[in-house]
Formats: sequence, structure tokens, C-alpha cells
Amino acid sequence: MAMIEDLIEFLQSEPEDLILLWDRIEGWHPVNSESRFFQYWKPEEVSLKGLRSLVVESDRPVYDVFLKRIETDIRGEGEICGTDAGRTYASVRMQQEEGIGYYNVECRFHRNADHCISKMLVLVQQMDAEEVYRMKLAHTITNDSTPSFFATTAREIMVKNPDKKYAIIQFDVAKFKVINEIYGEVRGDEILQFFIDTLKVVCHENQLYVRLSADVFMILTPYEELEDINRFIDLLDQNLLGYKDMNYTLVYGVCLIRDMKDGLRKYGDSAALARQSIKGDALTHVAFFEDKMKEGIYTRKFIEDNMKKALKNKEFVMYLQPKYSISQNCMVGAEALVRWIHPEKGIIPPMEFIPLFEKNGFVIKMDQYIWEEACKTIRQWMDDGIEPLPISVNVSRRNLRDNQFIDVLNGLIDKYQIPKKYLEIEITETIEDAQVNNGVTLLKENGYTLLMDDFGSGYSSLNMLKDTQFDVIKMDRGFLQDFIGSERGQRIVEHTIKMTADIGLDMVAEGVETQEQAAFLEKCGCDTAQGFYYDRPMTLEDFNKKMTK
Ligand code: C2E
Ligand code: CA
Ligand code: CA
Repeated sequence: MAMIEDLIEFLQSEPEDLILLWDRIEGWHPVNSESRFFQYWKPEEVSLKGLRSLVVESDRPVYDVFLKRIETDIRGEGEICGTDAGRTYASVRMQQEEGIGYYNVECRFHRNADHCISKMLVLVQQMDAEEVYRMKLAHTITNDSTPSFFATTAREIMVKNPDKKYAIIQFDVAKFKVINEIYGEVRGDEILQFFIDTLKVVCHENQLYVRLSADVFMILTPYEELEDINRFIDLLDQNLLGYKDMNYTLVYGVCLIRDMKDGLRKYGDSAALARQSIKGDALTHVAFFEDKMKEGIYTRKFIEDNMKKALKNKEFVMYLQPKYSISQNCMVGAEALVRWIHPEKGIIPPMEFIPLFEKNGFVIKMDQYIWEEACKTIRQWMDDGIEPLPISVNVSRRNLRDNQFIDVLNGLIDKYQIPKKYLEIEITETIEDAQVNNGVTLLKENGYTLLMDDFGSGYSSLNMLKDTQFDVIKMDRGFLQDFIGSERGQRIVEHTIKMTADIGLDMVAEGVETQEQAAFLEKCGCDTAQGFYYDRPMTLEDFNKKMTK
């Protein structure tokens, strides 16, 4: 127990600071009652929680994180669990009679032999000039000049502790734009400010953070084993998520520093590549940089240089993935999925190029090409006397921006003389988006069957089902796989299926990979499934063989 007692003795010589002690007998009580805090602080507020009343309004969320962390530390779940005396601190501004002051609030606790907390010590100490400078900086870093501050300081840290290993972590908010749309930009800004404030509490002195751009943050952290990095990311998640009950997730890219003499920039870029590699994947949120990710950069240039030629040379090929009736165990439809078959590189999967095509607008041309392939296929079946199965095609949101797409679709239906019921439309609905709504209405008025793609991923919400014009919901692969593992998750899936059926919508489950999943879906009343358990996407030739078997 020496530690806390020694400290108190030492600190009592500094009457400027505030020292509070909690023990089982006396509860909270001041140790240095001469501290000037007591001149204006109400006696009944003297406690760790009561200290919150002195913290300036805008720093209170940080203080709350601090309190939350202490709670987990006390329960022994925090990262300091197992040690004899824990130390947790926050840097906050506090209102004083003479104005606002910058303080470090620190909490230490001591456990008795039974591992119960026997004493808690709270120290409130004024920051020194250097600390105040850093805190002010943390509040204002939004411009380009700070990454250089980061680089210099990072170097200092590494030089000071050369025997440690280091990693760069970058993270950002998944679909931050959508967050801004849902909650408003003010809330978006608040979240980012909250991140900055929280990072101050969560990062210790050898962990350096910087805000790189809007919602991208970078952290230098020492580590011994890779597990330390994962633990730190868990800690970040615990503290950064759930601000004011908002629903958002963070994606992390990690790059290990191989040689401290290298420029940091290279490692930052690699962490960024790792982070970007996760975008759009609902199942992971942390990626470690691997050398092969660098190839991605060349691919990007490669793609832009080659896309037009590829379209002309018919390198884009329509694959079909069957949709099955679970109860009948037979094919009931197909989804058209594009593949880029490059003469040298082989098959390039759509996730490698579609996101880029969506940015540069080429997706419009490519989509329309695939729609035509689907229409041609249906015509061919009809000509061959085969009862066609409906094919659903993906319509990128980019297409919905102007009304031309409807003329293109109607034109194809006309050209190939096929009933509209055979060409179904898949659209990824996120939230209220006037352009998409407009496009959806147009499609509906023109008599197409609409499938809401990726339902249950990211930010699709129950709200969207209220006045929806869609006919079919496609349950996202991630939703199914995330939820099916637990009893509670299963109930959610079950009720989602019941609810959509109840409001008259059909349901297709995507990403069905096992017999158990299929059986579970059938039991819940969802009879249509698409996924590797049945078939992977295949060439038209293979699909035709299956169909006529
Ligand atoms: P999506 O529309 O959600 O398509 C379903 C994706 O899930 C396909 O990936 C499919 O191969 C994959 N998948 C199906 N069953 C399973 C399963 O059981 N397990 C797993 N792990 N995956 C399964 P794919 O073909 O790589 O396409 C990825 C995405 O690219 C599509 O997601 C879609 O958003 C986009 N895409 C593909 N073709 C087109 C297209 O012609 N136009 C547009 N705009 N987007 C397309
Ligand atoms: Ca789709
Ligand atoms: Ca989907």
C-alpha cells in the first residue's frame, strides 16, 4: 500500500493541486483541504463524479469516457487489470473562479488481498506549459502542417525508446458521409471533436495521434506482440464508438514499422492502403498492411488506362449466380454479376474495379453492357423454347442520377422483345436520397420488379421499409453471417423475415454458405436463397447446362 500513501505525502507539499481520497470507511474526502478548489466547490460534490460539475461543458464527453474507463478498470476488465495499482487519466479544462484552467485528472486505485478496491486516489493537477500547448494543438489540428509535427514528434518518441517496436494505425469512420446525412453535419463534427478529445485520454505518452483529414486519424503506437495492437484497437473501439448513442463503426489499417530510419510517410501510406482495403467489407474492420496491397495502386492506374478498351474487346463478361427455392431445391432465378476477364491478368473481381468505376462514372457504361447481356440471354432462352428464369441486374446509384437509364432499359426490353418480369433490378438502398427515390419511382412506374440489395448492411434501416416501393428485400450476407451465430441474432433474423413478409415484401437471403443456414431460413419463412452453398457465380455456358439438365 506504500504507493498511494507515499504519493499523498509527496503531493501535500503542492497545495495548488487537488487530492481526493476514497476508502471504505470515510468514502470520498479531500486530503489537502487547503486546495483552492474548495473555496468554491460544494462539499456535497466532492467525489470523482462530482468533479464533473467543474469540467467545462465541451470537455464533459471526455470526462465521461474517463469515468467509464475507470469503471472497467475497477471491474478488472480494463487494460490495467492484474496490476496492483492502476493509473488512468484525462486532460480537461475546468472552470475556476478566475477563468478556465487546463488540468490533468488522474485516478489511481489500490486493491486489497481479495482484489477488492480498497482505496482510490484522485489527483487534479494543473498542466505545464508544454502540456497546454499540446492540448491546444490537439483541438486545432486540421491542416496540413500537423502531419509534419506528427513526424517530428514520432521520431523523438522512437529515438527515446529505440528498443521498442512501433506501428502506425490509421482509422476512419465507415461511411462517414452517410453519418453526416443521417445525423446532420453538426453531429458529424461533434463526433470528430469527441474523437480528438477522447484520444487524449486513451493514448498514453508514447502513443501519438494526429487528425489527418476530415475523419481520418493516425496513431503511432509501440507494441511488443501483435496482440498488443489488437488490444489497443479494442480499447479505441470501446471508447470511440457510441457517442450520444449514434450508430457508426470504425475501420482500422495497421502498418508495422520495419525500420525506424525510413520516412514515416511510407508507413502512413501503407496503413491507409490497408484501411481502404476494408471499405465495403461488412465482416472485418481491421487490416494489416501486406505487400500485395501495393499492387492495388498499380491496378488503379491500370484499370483507368484499360477500361474503355476492355469494354470494346468484350473483356467484361456476365456471370450468373443462381437463386434457389430452398423447399423445392430448384433454381428460381439468377443474379448477373460482372467479371473482367483480362487476357494477361486473368479474372479481375468486381470489387477491384466497380468502386473506381462508380467514382469516374464508367459504371454507367459497364452496367448497361451487362443489362444488354442479360436481355440477350433471356431472348436466347425464349428462342430456344426454354422457360426463362428472371435475371436480376445491378443498377449502380450513379445510373439513377439522370433519367436516361430508364430509356436505356426500356430500349433493351424493346430491342429484344422480352417481358419485363424477366429483367429484375437490384439497387442498394441506403438512406433517403432524392435521386435514388426518383429513379426508383421511375422504375416502378415502368413496371419493373425492384430488389433492395444488401439490406441489413451498414445503414439501411427499418425506416426505409415504411413507404418503400421495392418488391423484394435481399438480406445481406454479412447480416446473415453476423447474426446467425447467436440465439438472439437468430431471433432478429427470424423476425426480420416475418416482418418483411407481413408488409408484403419478398425476401432473398444472400451469401448462404451452409445447409444449416438454408434450413434455418426455410424454418423462418424465407424460401429464396443465393450463395456458395448452392452455386458460385458461373459462366452463361455452365448456367445453361444446369438449367437444361
Ligand atoms: P452484390 O450485388 O451484393 O453481389 C453478391 C456478391 O456476393 C457477389 O460478389 C457474389 O459472388 C458474392 N456471393 C454470393 N454468394 C456468396 C456466398 O455464399 N459467400 C460469399 N462469401 N460471397 C457470396 P461479386 O460477384 O464479387 O460482386 C461483388 C459486388 O460487386 C456485388 O455485390 C455488386 O455490388 C458489385 N457488382 C457485381 N457486378 C456488378 C454489375 O454488373 N454492376 C454493378 N453496378 N455492380 C456489380
Ligand atoms: Ca446485387
Ligand atoms: Ca448484395
